[in-house]
This record gives sequence, structure tokens and C-alpha cells, in this order.
Amino acid sequence: MTGLDGFKPDVPAPDEITGPWWEATTEHRLVLQTCSRCVREDGRDRPVGVQHPPRPLCIHCGSDELDWVASAGTGVVDACTVVHRAPRPDLAVPYVIARVRLDEGVVLLTRLQEREPDEWRIDDPVRVAWVDLDDGRALPVFVPAAPSAAPSSPETKEGS
Ligand SMILES: [Zn+2]
Repeated sequence: MTGLDGFKPDVPAPDEITGPWWEATTEHRLVLQTCSRCVREDGRDRPVGVQHPPRPLCIHCGSDELDWVASAGTGVVDACTVVHRAPRPDLAVPYVIARVRLDEGVVLLTRLQEREPDEWRIDDPVRVAWVDLDDGRALPVFVPAAPSAAPSSPETKEGS
């Protein structure tokens, strides 16, 4: 059991804009569109001019000098909601739809997995995982960044 059974979403076909993004998913790489002009004019050593989903122009400056960079694939839960009623009969419920804010600063609409749906909280750290599609592409979903972490040494005070 992978826990992914029933996750067969309708996925749009790649087009001229999203093609490179989908191509990367076939290798389980999460990439983000970045603007070369924004990076050049900012100059700082941090992600700038990053946007998602892919667009034909930079949302910051309007340039078409767009490139792709690999995302670290880590972030935090920005918002999440548990779906109890499937929109289609072949979807297994409950599942969690979420906005994940990547460390690069952009937000992905995605799913959270590998934890009880009701146990997710805002700001939970997550990392990317992949759900393979029948056509070779894959969808990014997010799982707890620290899988099955031991309870952080609860300070059991045995006084008196
Ligand atoms: Zn730009």
C-alpha cells in the first residue's frame, strides 16, 4: 500500500509554457521558473524573480528572460483543508489539499500525505514527494519534512 491509491487527478497536458516543468517531473525534479533580469538586477544571493505556476512573462518585471532552477523541495504548510467528500467517485477520501510555501518563496497548490488528515497544522515543515502518473509525468505532493520523528524528548518532570 502506498497510500496513493485513488489519487488519479485530472492533469492538464503540457504546453509551450509548462513543458519544461512537466519534463522535470518525469525525473522527480521540482523546478521553478525564475527571471534572469530580476536576478541580475537584484544581485543578492537568494532566490529572486521566482514564480509558480509557469507563465510566459515574469510577474515581477514583465521580462521574458525566464529560466528554470531546481527547488530545494522544502517548505511549510501555508493553508490546508481536509476533503471528506470526493468530487469524483474514484477518489479516496479523506485527503488534504494544501497551499505549500516553498523555501524559495512561491506557493504550490498540492496535497499533503503520510499523516492523518486532521493532524496537519499551518507552518508544518514539509518536503516534496512524487506521485507517478500513467504517462510518465509525476505530480508533486508534500509529506512531513521529518518523517516519524521521535517525540522531542518530553520533559517528564518526576518531582515530589
Ligand atoms: Zn523579472
